[in-house]
Amino acid sequence: MNQGTIAKSVTFEGVGVHSGRIARVTVYPAPAGHGVVFKRTDVADKNNIIPALWDRVVPSELCTVISNEDGVSLSTIEHFMAATVGCGVHNLSVEVDGDEMPILDGSSQLFVDAFMDAGIVDQGAKRRVLKVLKEVTFVEGTKKITFKPSELPVLDVTIDFSERAAGHFAFEKSKRRETMINGNFVHNIASARTFCFLKDVEFLQSKGLARGGSTDNAIVIDGAGLYGGGKLRFDDELVSHKLLDLHGDTSGMVDAHFEAEIIAVQPGHAFSNRAVRHLMNTPDAYTIV
Ligand SMILES: [Zn+2]
Repeated sequence: MNQGTIAKSVTFEGVGVHSGRIARVTVYPAPAGHGVVFKRTDVADKNNIIPALWDRVVPSELCTVISNEDGVSLSTIEHFMAATVGCGVHNLSVEVDGDEMPILDGSSQLFVDAFMDAGIVDQGAKRRVLKVLKEVTFVEGTKKITFKPSELPVLDVTIDFSERAAGHFAFEKSKRRETMINGNFVHNIASARTFCFLKDVEFLQSKGLARGGSTDNAIVIDGAGLYGGGKLRFDDELVSHKLLDLHGDTSGMVDAHFEAEIIAVQPGHAFSNRAVRHLMNTPDAYTIV
């Protein structure tokens, strides 16, 4: 597989779901070997460059946050990172004028559309491959991720929110498996939106979080239904969004083609990052070529 970038720059603007602040993003093509690197253009007095890599992730349960040596950070990169790796766009220079990426519609769809509209360029250079050689499992409580050797990249996610949603939905306890080839991410996963429970939103907003959250950028589950008359885009949108997040948090953060089957039960952002760190700290379990 070759490395890719976009043919011309694209821009986004929108509210950050946690900060409630508007950020402007300009995404520029970058040369082979560059990776996805963010630049905080609102920071002038410190190092404002933050590469999108697993070892730059700082613990946060609500979203994926990366930080550099100077403590300059950027939040909520996961849907953007899923779009990059899902579209085969590996090298980008991303300028952001704030500390959080816009949430847009809560999925990866608008990032994907912009990359497709700009055009994706094959850069001729081979992409590094992170090949899993033996099975590695990482467990914390009810959360579990297993990395298995596989010729094809496969993601497999199981969620169970039946206690939280009081058994009202068929979709709250579900499983989805997808082979990440032939545009499957773009066609089957990219439009799945993030979701939350109304109880949690009220709690978060009382603590000054989720300031930008609304039914425009999230599915809000309220007891037996969806808050605000919301409708799902497709039946298994919830588990599909968890697969989207997992793609961004694993394959999106290694700057290599992740050749593995990744089987996740109840994954979350911080947990997925700890699982990737566990794999990377098991040297005989993988090779990078
Ligand atoms: Zn998400």
